[in-house]
Amino acid sequence: MLAVSRTLVFPVESVVVGMDRVGAVSQPVRTCLGCRQRAHKAELVRLVWDSTTGAVVIDAGQVLPGRGGYVHPTCGDALAKRRQLGRALRRPVDAEQAAALLAALTDSTD
Ligand SMILES: [Zn+2]
Repeated sequence: MLAVSRTLVFPVESVVVGMDRVGAVSQPVRTCLGCRQRAHKAELVRLVWDSTTGAVVIDAGQVLPGRGGYVHPTCGDALAKRRQLGRALRRPVDAEQAAALLAALTDSTD
């Protein structure tokens, strides 16, 4: 018989069981700041703080310098409701503004 070896008493927020082998092919994996699920970098949008404009911008090439955070393009709403982005970028950011960036992104690509 199959035995469930993992303890099933995780709090709801940490239910990522089963997702922790996403990086088995050695692709970089990051945690989405919105839903907290882990995903390949390629599936996520990188957000960085642009000090020249004083706003969060989308790093389409995932190459901009500085602290960044990753989020699913569809997780803008979740992002706006959490403070994860500010923690990731180490500054008080306008998560609503970042969510709007994501919304625009999904509008144009989907
Ligand atoms: Zn997400």
